[in-house]
Order: sequence, then structure tokens, then C-alpha cells
Amino acid sequence: MHDPIDLILEAAGLRPDCEGLWCDPSRMLGVALSPAGLFVGWLDVGWTATGEPFDEMRDVTHLSPSVALPLLERDLGIALAEATGAREEHLRRCLWCGGRYVPGRMYAMDRCQGCAPGRRGEG
Ligand SMILES: [Zn+2]
Repeated sequence: MHDPIDLILEAAGLRPDCEGLWCDPSRMLGVALSPAGLFVGWLDVGWTATGEPFDEMRDVTHLSPSVALPLLERDLGIALAEATGAREEHLRRCLWCGGRYVPGRMYAMDRCQGCAPGRRGEG
């Protein structure tokens, strides 16, 4: 028993593995399924008050459930491509390790959390 929308999401390489969101294996993109349709965005990292990370969707596109499935599949592909581009634009480079990270993984504008003071002994 598979919902046709589930099949479209699986065909796009997504799995329902991200705390209720569908996401790709590298957790870069997320899709929320709801009676109001699909919500497609890229995944940033948010932090709870106790320092636990959670997936936070950004630049969300809404796809209505009223459109025919082939159109929905096409629009999902477009929305995922747009989300990939939007994520790319938001990545920040760490001047300490050279890595590129989503904003939620940055300790400061130019420094990732892995390079935060105290994490690598530089102070
Ligand atoms: Zn770094």
C-alpha cells in the first residue's frame, strides 16, 4: 500500500527519515507532507534550549495537492532544484577549516562550530 505521493517522493530520492520530514540521504533537502499539500525547502540546523539539533526548513515552496500527479511530480522536481540552489547561496565558508556549512552550523559569521573557541584549542 503506497500513496502515489509517497511514490513520487521516493522517486525523487527522498525518504521519511527526518523527524517527520522526507529528506534526501545527506539531509540537505526536506519535504513536509500535509493535507494542504507539499512544502519543499532546504534543511538548516536549529538548536533547542538544551543544545539539541533539529532540522529546520528554509525557503519553503508550497505545492498544492489539487494539481494532477504528473504536474505535481514535475513541480516537485523544480522545487527541489530551487531549494538546492537556495541552500547553496546560504552556505557560509569557515575561514578556519575552509569548510562550507549551513548557517545553523556556524559559530560566528566566519567560523564553524567545529572550529569554535575551545573546540580546537586555539581559544
Ligand atoms: Zn571550521
